[in-house]
Amino acid sequence: MQTHPTDPSPAQTYHYPVRLGIIGGGQLARMLALAALPLGCEVIVLENSPLSPAARLAPAALVGDWNDPATLLKLAERCDVITLENEFVNAAALAALEQAGHPVYPGAACLAVTQDKLTQKQTLQNAGLAVPRFRAVRSPAEVQAAAADFGWPLVLKTRRNGYDGKGNFTLRSAADLPAGWAALGGDRLELMVEEFWPFTRELAVIVTRARTGEAVLYPVVETIQQNHVCHVVKAPAEIPPEVAARATELAGRAVAAVGGVGSFGVEMFLSAAGALVINELAPRVHNSGHYTIEACVCSQFENHVRAVLGWPLGSPTMVAPAAVMLNLLGTVAAPGQPVGLVPALQQTGAHVHLYGKLTSGPGRKMGHVTALGGTLASALATAQRAAREISFGAK
Ligand code: ADP
Repeated sequence: MQTHPTDPSPAQTYHYPVRLGIIGGGQLARMLALAALPLGCEVIVLENSPLSPAARLAPAALVGDWNDPATLLKLAERCDVITLENEFVNAAALAALEQAGHPVYPGAACLAVTQDKLTQKQTLQNAGLAVPRFRAVRSPAEVQAAAADFGWPLVLKTRRNGYDGKGNFTLRSAADLPAGWAALGGDRLELMVEEFWPFTRELAVIVTRARTGEAVLYPVVETIQQNHVCHVVKAPAEIPPEVAARATELAGRAVAAVGGVGSFGVEMFLSAAGALVINELAPRVHNSGHYTIEACVCSQFENHVRAVLGWPLGSPTMVAPAAVMLNLLGTVAAPGQPVGLVPALQQTGAHVHLYGKLTSGPGRKMGHVTALGGTLASALATAQRAAREISFGAK
């Protein structure tokens, strides 16, 4: 093993080049790998397909099930530090890696708390942070009881494995309860219920927290979802500085409350009256932070790599007054190759990212476009000019 005797960072005990293992091989892992490679890291991705977006890019990939402790151990033996691109990894298996002496960031305890929406909200609430009223429900009768306290509508959620609105069901009244309970598999899975929080905007902040607890906070952005999938991110959000300051503080405290290390996405709701609550926190790099690749001095991906390796964090400051990110979503089940890339690339100032997925599908995240501008309106116009040229498999 080679080390750097003159380098005082914790990385000095690592193999050189530093080997970063990423559990999961989707677009988030791909963008993490793209940020780690210029820092001289070797990236090893674990995913069950050899053709995942990140595995096609990383020089080394391990094909296997990331919930299988033996496979995780194989990854750990080839890496100096392990990180993850999704919150669905088996926390007990990660804890076993830690016990065997392998550094894992964010850690197993943080993941265990955050991957269950109920324990995550309890932790945030116990830290004095505002969240919508919530409770665990074990039967439709308990949902009825929650409605008596919170009122309708309610949002019924699976505690685990939900993403992009899969795992959520809005109950407008008691009449929706049988369908909602059945749709989320309430007889099999653990559910929770929340008051429907009347937000006028959804905000998000990326927080990168170092192992030392030091953190950098990116600008507050506005996210606009359609069918529960993020479509547009506007950076910075057009909100009063006082609201931005509160949102930033809330986000920083939330990531500290769960003991996070790395880049985390904190999603919040803002009401017409200016009240803020945390909707959820993702223990990983986040779609609301893709704009940081071009729009910030140091991206959420590079800062994640720096944080998990114990290196100094970079600046989250924006390099332009405004930036807009548009997701490129699939519309139909079709092969993944993009149609219209050439005209999209003719749009000056639009940064096109394609994830290299082999197949597309309705709502599937296939890529994104970011544009910077003097104003949000000009950044949006540039991003739209490119994004509307691109489709997947079919126009
Ligand atoms: P996922 O984990 O699938 O992203 P979320 O819990 O973040 O699910 O919910 C997805 C979307 O559903 C949110 O972005 C928001 O638009 C809406 N939503 C979730 N919880 C509530 C709530 N308590 N009140 C109102 N809308 C909600």
